[in-house]
Amino acid sequence: MDAVQKITSLCKRRGFVFQSSEIYGGWEAAYDFGPLGAEMLRNIRNLWWKEFVHKQPNIVGLDSAIISHPRVWEASGHVESFADAMVEDIKNNKRYRADHIIGEYFEKKNGEEFNADGMSLEELDILIAENNILSPDGNKLSKARKFNSLVEVSIGTLEDAKATAYLRGETCQPIFYNYALVRDSMRMKIPFGIAQIGKAFRNEIKVGPFFFRTREFEQMEMELYVHPSDAENQMAKLKSWAIDWLVSLGIPEDKLRLRDQDFKERAHYNKIATDVEYRFPFGWKEFQGLHYRSDWDLSRHAEFSGTNLDYTDPVTGEKYVPHVVEYSIGLNRLMLVLLFDAYVEEEERVVLKLHPDIAPYRYAVFPLLKNKPELVDKARLIYNTLVTKGYNVAWDDRGNIGKRYYSQDEIGTPYCITVDFQTLEDETVTIRDRDTASQRRLRIDELG
Ligand code: ATP
Repeated sequence: MDAVQKITSLCKRRGFVFQSSEIYGGWEAAYDFGPLGAEMLRNIRNLWWKEFVHKQPNIVGLDSAIISHPRVWEASGHVESFADAMVEDIKNNKRYRADHIIGEYFEKKNGEEFNADGMSLEELDILIAENNILSPDGNKLSKARKFNSLVEVSIGTLEDAKATAYLRGETCQPIFYNYALVRDSMRMKIPFGIAQIGKAFRNEIKVGPFFFRTREFEQMEMELYVHPSDAENQMAKLKSWAIDWLVSLGIPEDKLRLRDQDFKERAHYNKIATDVEYRFPFGWKEFQGLHYRSDWDLSRHAEFSGTNLDYTDPVTGEKYVPHVVEYSIGLNRLMLVLLFDAYVEEEERVVLKLHPDIAPYRYAVFPLLKNKPELVDKARLIYNTLVTKGYNVAWDDRGNIGKRYYSQDEIGTPYCITVDFQTLEDETVTIRDRDTASQRRLRIDELG
Protein backbone atom coordinates (compact mmCIF):
# COMPACT_ATOMS: atom_id res chain seq x y z
CA MET A 1 0.00 0.00 0.00
CA ASP A 2 1.33 3.48 -0.75
CA ALA A 3 1.03 6.40 1.65
CA VAL A 4 -2.21 7.71 0.14
CA GLN A 5 -3.87 4.30 0.36
CA LYS A 6 -2.76 3.90 3.96
CA ILE A 7 -4.24 7.25 4.99
CA THR A 8 -7.42 6.60 2.99
CA SER A 9 -7.91 3.24 4.62
CA LEU A 10 -7.24 4.52 8.15
CA CYS A 11 -9.64 7.44 7.59
CA LYS A 12 -12.43 5.09 6.56
CA ARG A 13 -11.78 2.39 9.16
CA ARG A 14 -11.62 4.86 12.04
CA GLY A 15 -14.43 7.22 11.06
CA PHE A 16 -12.48 10.24 9.79
CA VAL A 17 -13.49 10.40 6.13
CA PHE A 18 -15.90 8.41 3.96
CA GLN A 19 -16.50 8.42 0.24
CA SER A 20 -19.73 10.36 -0.15
CA SER A 21 -22.86 8.36 -1.01
CA GLU A 22 -20.95 5.10 -0.62
CA ILE A 23 -24.07 2.92 -0.46
CA TYR A 24 -25.01 4.27 -3.91
CA GLY A 25 -21.64 3.37 -5.35
CA GLY A 26 -19.96 6.61 -4.32
CA TRP A 27 -19.95 10.06 -5.91
CA GLU A 28 -16.76 11.21 -7.56
CA ALA A 29 -14.56 13.63 -5.65
CA ALA A 30 -17.03 14.11 -2.81
CA TYR A 31 -16.24 13.08 0.74
CA ASP A 32 -18.15 13.03 4.00
CA PHE A 33 -16.27 13.72 7.18
CA GLY A 34 -17.16 11.13 9.80
CA PRO A 35 -17.31 11.62 13.58
CA LEU A 36 -13.54 11.95 14.07
CA GLY A 37 -12.99 13.96 10.89
CA ALA A 38 -15.73 16.36 11.96
CA GLU A 39 -13.96 16.85 15.32
CA MET A 40 -10.64 17.47 13.62
CA LEU A 41 -12.09 20.01 11.18
CA ARG A 42 -13.84 21.80 14.04
CA ASN A 43 -10.60 21.98 16.02
CA ILE A 44 -8.71 23.44 13.05
CA ARG A 45 -11.48 25.96 12.35
CA ASN A 46 -11.50 27.07 15.99
CA LEU A 47 -7.71 27.44 16.16
CA TRP A 48 -7.66 29.43 12.94
CA TRP A 49 -10.50 31.73 14.07
CA LYS A 50 -8.81 32.31 17.41
CA GLU A 51 -5.51 33.21 15.74
CA PHE A 52 -6.75 35.27 12.79
CA VAL A 53 -9.86 36.89 14.29
CA HIS A 54 -10.11 36.80 18.09
CA LYS A 55 -6.46 37.65 18.74
CA GLN A 56 -6.46 40.48 16.18
CA PRO A 57 -8.04 43.78 17.22
CA ASN A 58 -8.21 44.93 13.57
CA ILE A 59 -9.74 41.78 12.06
CA VAL A 60 -13.42 40.80 12.19
CA GLY A 61 -15.37 37.80 10.94
CA LEU A 62 -18.10 37.23 8.39
CA ASP A 63 -20.43 34.36 7.53
CA SER A 64 -21.97 35.08 4.17
CA ALA A 65 -24.46 33.35 1.88
CA ILE A 66 -23.11 30.71 -0.47
CA ILE A 67 -25.35 31.82 -3.32
CA SER A 68 -25.16 35.54 -3.98
CA HIS A 69 -26.30 37.87 -6.73
CA PRO A 70 -24.90 36.52 -10.02
CA ARG A 71 -23.45 39.96 -10.81
CA VAL A 72 -20.92 39.34 -8.02
CA TRP A 73 -19.27 36.67 -10.16
CA GLU A 74 -19.36 38.81 -13.26
CA ALA A 75 -17.64 41.61 -11.38
CA SER A 76 -15.05 39.27 -9.96
CA GLY A 77 -14.15 38.03 -13.45
CA HIS A 78 -15.11 34.43 -12.69
CA VAL A 79 -17.92 34.18 -15.25
CA GLU A 80 -15.57 35.29 -17.99
CA SER A 81 -12.28 33.74 -17.02
CA PHE A 82 -12.39 31.32 -14.08
CA ALA A 83 -11.27 28.53 -16.32
CA ASP A 84 -8.64 25.85 -16.61
CA ALA A 85 -7.25 24.57 -19.89
CA MET A 86 -8.60 21.10 -20.54
CA VAL A 87 -7.69 18.31 -22.96
CA GLU A 88 -9.78 15.26 -23.75
CA ASP A 89 -8.79 11.69 -24.53
CA ILE A 90 -10.18 11.45 -28.06
CA LYS A 91 -11.19 7.80 -27.65
CA ASN A 92 -12.85 7.60 -24.24
CA ASN A 93 -13.55 11.33 -23.69
CA LYS A 94 -11.94 11.41 -20.26
CA ARG A 95 -10.93 14.95 -19.39
CA TYR A 96 -7.65 16.16 -17.98
CA ARG A 97 -6.13 19.46 -16.98
CA ALA A 98 -3.65 20.28 -19.73
CA ASP A 99 -1.05 21.75 -17.35
CA HIS A 100 -1.20 18.62 -15.16
CA ILE A 101 -0.82 16.12 -17.98
CA ILE A 102 2.12 18.06 -19.46
CA GLY A 103 3.73 18.57 -16.04
CA GLU A 104 3.47 14.85 -15.26
CA TYR A 105 4.97 13.94 -18.65
CA PHE A 106 8.07 16.11 -18.14
CA GLU A 107 8.47 15.11 -14.49
CA LYS A 108 8.55 11.47 -15.54
CA LYS A 109 10.91 12.17 -18.42
CA ASN A 110 13.39 14.50 -16.69
CA GLY A 111 12.78 13.75 -13.03
CA GLU A 112 12.22 17.46 -12.43
CA GLU A 113 9.18 19.54 -11.61
CA PHE A 114 7.64 21.22 -14.63
CA ASN A 115 5.03 23.92 -14.30
CA ALA A 116 2.74 24.49 -17.27
CA ASP A 117 0.16 26.45 -15.28
CA GLY A 118 -0.74 29.73 -16.98
CA MET A 119 0.45 28.81 -20.49
CA SER A 120 -1.74 29.83 -23.42
CA LEU A 121 -3.86 27.25 -25.25
CA GLU A 122 -1.51 27.46 -28.24
CA GLU A 123 1.57 26.88 -26.08
CA LEU A 124 -0.06 23.86 -24.47
CA ASP A 125 -1.06 22.40 -27.87
CA ILE A 126 2.50 22.82 -29.17
CA LEU A 127 4.03 21.07 -26.15
CA ILE A 128 1.58 18.17 -26.48
CA ALA A 129 2.15 17.79 -30.23
CA GLU A 130 5.95 18.18 -30.19
CA ASN A 131 6.38 15.65 -27.41
CA ASN A 132 3.61 13.35 -28.56
CA ILE A 133 2.05 13.41 -25.09
CA LEU A 134 -0.76 10.87 -24.76
CA SER A 135 -3.55 10.36 -22.24
CA PRO A 136 -2.92 8.00 -19.27
CA ASP A 137 -4.82 5.38 -21.32
CA GLY A 138 -2.35 5.78 -24.20
CA ASN A 139 -4.69 7.63 -26.57
CA LYS A 140 -4.25 10.89 -28.47
CA LEU A 141 -5.42 14.10 -26.82
CA SER A 142 -7.75 16.76 -28.20
CA LYS A 143 -6.70 20.38 -28.56
CA ALA A 144 -6.71 22.34 -25.31
CA ARG A 145 -9.76 24.45 -24.55
CA LYS A 146 -11.02 26.46 -21.62
CA PHE A 147 -13.42 24.94 -19.12
CA ASN A 148 -15.16 27.26 -16.64
CA SER A 149 -15.02 26.03 -13.06
CA LEU A 150 -17.99 27.96 -11.63
CA VAL A 151 -20.82 25.68 -10.52
CA GLU A 152 -24.15 26.98 -11.83
CA VAL A 153 -27.43 26.60 -9.97
CA SER A 154 -30.92 27.28 -11.09
CA ILE A 155 -32.80 28.91 -8.26
CA GLY A 156 -36.25 30.34 -7.55
CA THR A 157 -39.74 28.94 -7.06
CA LEU A 158 -41.31 29.40 -10.49
CA GLU A 159 -39.93 27.18 -13.23
CA ASP A 160 -39.91 29.86 -15.93
CA ALA A 161 -38.64 32.61 -13.65
CA LYS A 162 -35.72 30.64 -12.23
CA ALA A 163 -32.50 32.56 -12.21
CA THR A 164 -29.10 31.16 -13.00
CA ALA A 165 -26.79 31.82 -10.11
CA TYR A 166 -23.51 30.34 -8.92
CA LEU A 167 -22.28 28.47 -5.88
CA ARG A 168 -19.43 30.64 -4.67
CA GLY A 169 -16.10 29.72 -6.24
CA GLU A 170 -14.17 31.25 -3.35
CA THR A 171 -15.18 32.64 0.02
CA CYS A 172 -13.53 36.02 -0.48
CA GLN A 173 -15.97 37.66 -2.92
CA PRO A 174 -18.63 38.24 -0.23
CA ILE A 175 -15.83 39.74 1.88
CA PHE A 176 -15.27 42.25 -0.92
CA TYR A 177 -18.87 43.19 -1.63
CA ASN A 178 -19.53 43.56 2.12
CA TYR A 179 -16.43 45.72 2.60
CA ALA A 180 -18.22 49.04 3.19
CA LEU A 181 -20.99 47.53 5.36
CA VAL A 182 -18.45 45.92 7.66
CA ARG A 183 -16.21 49.00 7.70
CA ASP A 184 -19.08 51.31 8.68
CA SER A 185 -20.96 49.03 11.08
CA MET A 186 -17.76 48.08 12.93
CA ARG A 187 -16.00 51.47 12.54
CA MET A 188 -12.93 49.84 11.06
CA LYS A 189 -9.92 51.89 10.08
CA ILE A 190 -7.32 50.86 7.55
CA PRO A 191 -5.40 48.62 7.85
CA PHE A 192 -8.15 46.17 8.78
CA GLY A 193 -9.17 42.67 7.82
CA ILE A 194 -12.28 40.55 7.30
CA ALA A 195 -12.08 36.77 7.69
CA GLN A 196 -14.44 34.03 6.70
CA ILE A 197 -14.56 30.24 6.88
CA GLY A 198 -16.91 28.39 4.59
CA LYS A 199 -17.66 26.21 1.63
CA ALA A 200 -16.53 26.93 -1.90
CA PHE A 201 -17.34 25.01 -5.07
CA ARG A 202 -15.40 24.46 -8.28
CA ASN A 203 -16.11 22.20 -11.19
CA GLU A 204 -12.59 20.79 -11.16
CA ILE A 205 -11.50 18.76 -14.16
CA LYS A 206 -8.99 16.74 -12.25
CA VAL A 207 -9.69 15.64 -8.70
CA GLY A 208 -7.78 13.79 -5.99
CA PRO A 209 -5.66 12.25 -4.71
CA PHE A 210 -8.13 11.42 -1.92
CA PHE A 211 -9.66 14.74 -0.83
CA PHE A 212 -6.68 16.89 -1.87
CA ARG A 213 -8.72 18.36 -4.72
CA THR A 214 -12.51 18.08 -4.61
CA ARG A 215 -15.39 19.96 -6.18
CA GLU A 216 -16.78 21.06 -2.83
CA PHE A 217 -14.35 22.19 -0.16
CA GLU A 218 -13.93 24.64 2.66
CA GLN A 219 -11.71 27.71 2.71
CA MET A 220 -10.42 29.88 5.52
CA GLU A 221 -9.71 33.29 4.06
CA MET A 222 -8.73 36.69 5.38
CA GLU A 223 -8.65 39.84 3.30
CA LEU A 224 -6.62 42.75 4.63
CA TYR A 225 -7.55 46.21 3.36
CA VAL A 226 -4.46 48.38 3.24
CA HIS A 227 -3.07 51.63 1.88
CA PRO A 228 -1.33 50.93 -1.46
CA SER A 229 2.02 52.08 -0.06
CA ASP A 230 1.72 49.59 2.82
CA ALA A 231 0.78 46.53 0.74
CA GLU A 232 4.19 44.97 0.20
CA ASN A 233 5.07 45.38 3.85
CA GLN A 234 1.79 43.72 4.90
CA MET A 235 2.38 40.91 2.41
CA ALA A 236 5.83 40.24 3.92
CA LYS A 237 4.33 40.17 7.42
CA LEU A 238 1.58 37.81 6.30
CA LYS A 239 4.13 35.37 4.90
CA SER A 240 5.96 34.94 8.16
CA TRP A 241 2.72 34.93 10.16
CA ALA A 242 1.32 32.17 7.93
CA ILE A 243 4.39 30.00 8.37
CA ASP A 244 4.58 30.62 12.13
CA TRP A 245 0.98 29.50 12.55
CA LEU A 246 1.53 26.31 10.55
CA VAL A 247 4.63 25.52 12.58
CA SER A 248 2.62 26.10 15.78
CA LEU A 249 0.36 23.24 14.62
CA GLY A 250 3.37 20.95 14.63
CA ILE A 251 4.22 20.96 10.90
CA PRO A 252 8.03 20.84 10.57
CA GLU A 253 9.48 23.86 8.77
CA ASP A 254 11.56 21.72 6.42
CA LYS A 255 8.37 20.24 4.97
CA LEU A 256 7.06 23.71 4.12
CA ARG A 257 8.16 26.09 1.42
CA LEU A 258 7.03 29.37 -0.05
CA ARG A 259 6.96 29.51 -3.83
CA ASP A 260 6.39 32.74 -5.73
CA GLN A 261 4.24 32.18 -8.79
CA ASP A 262 5.73 33.56 -11.98
CA PHE A 263 3.99 36.11 -14.14
CA LYS A 264 2.21 33.58 -16.40
CA GLU A 265 0.83 31.52 -13.56
CA ARG A 266 -0.58 34.43 -11.57
CA ALA A 267 -4.16 35.58 -11.93
CA HIS A 268 -3.88 38.87 -13.84
CA TYR A 269 -5.03 40.95 -10.85
CA ASN A 270 -2.38 39.55 -8.53
CA LYS A 271 0.75 41.65 -8.25
CA ILE A 272 2.36 39.04 -6.04
CA ALA A 273 1.15 35.46 -5.53
CA THR A 274 2.98 33.14 -3.21
CA ASP A 275 2.00 29.52 -2.71
CA VAL A 276 2.64 27.78 0.56
CA GLU A 277 3.57 24.21 -0.28
CA TYR A 278 3.88 21.03 1.75
CA ARG A 279 6.02 18.03 0.88
CA PHE A 280 3.35 15.35 0.42
CA PRO A 281 4.40 11.78 -0.41
CA PHE A 282 3.21 12.67 -3.95
CA GLY A 283 5.38 15.78 -4.20
CA TRP A 284 5.44 19.45 -3.18
CA LYS A 285 1.88 20.75 -3.47
CA GLU A 286 0.18 24.04 -2.71
CA PHE A 287 -2.24 24.12 0.20
CA GLN A 288 -2.32 27.85 0.83
CA GLY A 289 -2.04 31.04 -1.21
CA LEU A 290 -0.93 34.52 -0.19
CA HIS A 291 -1.86 37.17 -2.70
CA TYR A 292 -1.46 40.87 -3.21
CA ARG A 293 -4.64 41.48 -5.22
CA SER A 294 -4.15 45.26 -5.67
CA ASP A 295 -7.41 47.28 -5.94
CA TRP A 296 -8.92 44.88 -8.49
CA ASP A 297 -11.74 43.50 -6.35
CA LEU A 298 -13.06 46.70 -4.82
CA SER A 299 -12.72 48.63 -8.09
CA ARG A 300 -14.65 45.97 -10.00
CA HIS A 301 -17.43 45.72 -7.39
CA ALA A 302 -17.65 49.52 -7.32
CA GLU A 303 -17.94 49.59 -11.11
CA PHE A 304 -20.46 46.75 -11.46
CA SER A 305 -22.67 47.79 -8.53
CA GLY A 306 -22.41 51.54 -8.99
CA THR A 307 -21.49 51.91 -5.30
CA ASN A 308 -18.64 54.11 -4.19
CA LEU A 309 -16.16 51.94 -2.29
CA ASP A 310 -13.48 54.60 -1.73
CA TYR A 311 -11.92 54.98 1.67
CA THR A 312 -11.31 58.36 3.24
CA ASP A 313 -8.45 58.51 5.70
CA PRO A 314 -9.87 60.03 8.91
CA VAL A 315 -6.61 61.87 9.67
CA THR A 316 -5.22 63.05 6.33
CA GLY A 317 -8.48 63.13 4.38
CA GLU A 318 -6.83 61.16 1.55
CA LYS A 319 -9.37 59.32 -0.61
CA TYR A 320 -8.38 56.05 -2.25
CA VAL A 321 -9.51 52.55 -3.20
CA PRO A 322 -7.97 50.22 -0.61
CA HIS A 323 -5.63 47.52 -1.82
CA VAL A 324 -6.10 43.94 -0.71
CA VAL A 325 -3.60 41.48 0.70
CA GLU A 326 -5.09 38.01 0.96
CA TYR A 327 -4.50 34.91 3.08
CA SER A 328 -6.28 31.84 1.72
CA ILE A 329 -6.02 28.28 2.95
CA GLY A 330 -8.07 25.19 2.21
CA LEU A 331 -9.42 23.73 5.45
CA ASN A 332 -9.74 20.20 4.09
CA ARG A 333 -6.38 20.37 2.37
CA LEU A 334 -4.79 21.55 5.61
CA MET A 335 -6.41 18.59 7.37
CA LEU A 336 -4.83 16.30 4.77
CA VAL A 337 -1.43 17.92 5.38
CA LEU A 338 -1.85 17.34 9.12
CA LEU A 339 -2.87 13.70 8.61
CA PHE A 340 0.07 12.90 6.35
CA ASP A 341 2.41 14.71 8.67
CA ALA A 342 1.16 12.93 11.78
CA TYR A 343 1.11 9.41 10.35
CA VAL A 344 3.93 7.27 11.75
CA GLU A 345 4.39 3.51 11.55
CA GLU A 346 6.33 2.01 14.41
CA GLU A 347 7.24 -1.62 15.08
CA GLU A 348 3.91 -2.71 16.45
CA ARG A 349 1.67 0.28 16.11
CA VAL A 350 0.44 3.04 13.84
CA VAL A 351 0.39 6.45 15.51
CA LEU A 352 -1.16 9.73 14.46
CA LYS A 353 1.10 12.24 16.16
CA LEU A 354 -1.39 15.08 15.90
CA HIS A 355 -1.03 18.27 17.90
CA PRO A 356 -3.16 17.80 21.06
CA ASP A 357 -5.35 20.77 20.11
CA ILE A 358 -6.13 19.15 16.75
CA ALA A 359 -6.56 15.50 17.72
CA PRO A 360 -10.26 14.45 17.76
CA TYR A 361 -10.01 13.39 21.42
CA ARG A 362 -7.71 14.93 24.04
CA TYR A 363 -8.09 12.03 26.49
CA ALA A 364 -9.31 8.47 26.53
CA VAL A 365 -10.54 7.04 29.83
CA PHE A 366 -10.39 3.30 30.55
CA PRO A 367 -11.69 1.37 33.54
CA LEU A 368 -9.19 -1.50 33.90
CA LEU A 369 -12.00 -4.07 34.02
CA LYS A 370 -15.51 -3.51 32.75
CA ASN A 371 -17.14 -5.99 35.12
CA LYS A 372 -16.01 -4.14 38.27
CA PRO A 373 -18.66 -1.45 38.94
CA GLU A 374 -16.41 0.43 41.38
CA LEU A 375 -13.78 0.90 38.62
CA VAL A 376 -16.38 1.79 36.00
CA ASP A 377 -18.08 4.34 38.29
CA LYS A 378 -14.79 5.99 39.18
CA ALA A 379 -13.73 6.12 35.52
CA ARG A 380 -17.13 7.64 34.57
CA LEU A 381 -16.61 10.33 37.18
CA ILE A 382 -13.23 11.24 35.70
CA TYR A 383 -14.67 11.13 32.19
CA ASN A 384 -17.47 13.52 33.19
CA THR A 385 -15.08 15.90 34.94
CA LEU A 386 -12.89 16.16 31.83
CA VAL A 387 -15.90 16.68 29.57
CA THR A 388 -17.12 19.43 31.90
CA LYS A 389 -13.71 21.08 31.58
CA GLY A 390 -14.35 21.31 27.81
CA TYR A 391 -12.38 18.34 26.47
CA ASN A 392 -13.62 15.79 24.01
CA VAL A 393 -12.99 12.44 25.70
CA ALA A 394 -13.09 8.87 24.41
CA TRP A 395 -14.35 5.98 26.51
CA ASP A 396 -13.16 2.42 26.03
CA ASP A 397 -13.75 -0.58 28.28
CA ARG A 398 -13.21 -3.40 25.77
CA GLY A 399 -10.39 -5.94 25.69
CA ASN A 400 -6.94 -5.61 27.16
CA ILE A 401 -5.32 -2.28 27.95
CA GLY A 402 -2.52 -2.70 25.37
CA LYS A 403 -5.07 -3.05 22.56
CA ARG A 404 -6.96 -0.03 23.82
CA TYR A 405 -3.72 2.01 23.74
CA TYR A 406 -3.01 1.02 20.14
CA SER A 407 -6.54 1.81 19.14
CA GLN A 408 -6.23 5.35 20.56
CA ASP A 409 -2.73 5.79 19.03
CA GLU A 410 -4.18 5.21 15.59
CA ILE A 411 -6.66 8.07 15.99
CA GLY A 412 -4.16 10.39 17.64
CA THR A 413 -5.46 10.60 21.23
CA PRO A 414 -2.56 12.21 23.13
CA TYR A 415 -3.32 10.81 26.60
CA CYS A 416 -4.93 7.61 27.90
CA ILE A 417 -6.05 7.45 31.51
CA THR A 418 -6.51 4.09 33.19
CA VAL A 419 -8.48 3.65 36.39
CA ASP A 420 -7.29 0.61 38.38
CA PHE A 421 -7.58 -0.73 41.92
CA GLN A 422 -4.89 1.61 43.21
CA THR A 423 -7.08 4.52 42.05
CA LEU A 424 -9.72 3.49 44.57
CA GLU A 425 -7.12 3.61 47.34
CA ASP A 426 -5.08 6.74 46.62
CA GLU A 427 -6.96 8.83 43.99
CA THR A 428 -4.23 8.37 41.37
CA VAL A 429 -4.50 7.08 37.79
CA THR A 430 -2.08 5.88 35.14
CA ILE A 431 -1.59 8.39 32.35
CA ARG A 432 0.05 7.13 29.21
CA ASP A 433 1.64 9.40 26.63
CA ARG A 434 0.86 8.63 22.98
CA ASP A 435 4.21 9.63 21.46
CA THR A 436 6.60 8.08 23.95
CA ALA A 437 4.26 5.30 25.18
CA SER A 438 5.59 6.10 28.67
CA GLN A 439 3.32 5.85 31.68
CA ARG A 440 3.24 7.62 35.01
CA ARG A 441 0.89 7.98 37.91
CA LEU A 442 -0.89 11.23 38.48
CA ARG A 443 -3.36 12.48 41.06
CA ILE A 444 -6.88 12.82 39.64
CA ASP A 445 -7.03 16.48 40.63
CA GLU A 446 -3.94 17.15 38.48
CA LEU A 447 -5.73 16.05 35.28
CA GLY A 448 -6.95 18.48 32.61
P1 ATP B 1 -5.09 24.60 -7.22
O1 ATP B 1 -4.04 25.17 -8.12
O2 ATP B 1 -4.58 23.52 -6.30
O3 ATP B 1 -6.36 24.20 -7.92
P2 ATP B 1 -5.75 27.31 -6.59
O4 ATP B 1 -4.44 27.97 -6.84
O5 ATP B 1 -6.83 27.42 -7.57
O6 ATP B 1 -5.51 25.73 -6.22
P3 ATP B 1 -6.72 29.17 -4.67
O7 ATP B 1 -7.79 29.66 -5.55
O8 ATP B 1 -5.56 30.06 -4.39
O9 ATP B 1 -6.25 27.73 -5.17
O10 ATP B 1 -7.40 28.70 -3.30
C1 ATP B 1 -6.76 28.77 -2.06
C2 ATP B 1 -6.72 27.43 -1.37
O11 ATP B 1 -7.99 26.78 -1.40
C3 ATP B 1 -5.76 26.43 -2.02
O12 ATP B 1 -4.44 26.63 -1.60
C4 ATP B 1 -6.32 25.10 -1.49
O13 ATP B 1 -5.88 24.83 -0.19
C5 ATP B 1 -7.81 25.37 -1.45
N1 ATP B 1 -8.43 24.81 -2.66
C6 ATP B 1 -8.58 25.38 -3.88
N2 ATP B 1 -9.21 24.55 -4.72
C7 ATP B 1 -9.47 23.42 -4.03
C8 ATP B 1 -10.12 22.18 -4.34
N3 ATP B 1 -10.64 21.97 -5.53
N4 ATP B 1 -10.19 21.23 -3.37
C9 ATP B 1 -9.69 21.44 -2.13
N5 ATP B 1 -9.09 22.58 -1.78
C10 ATP B 1 -8.97 23.57 -2.71
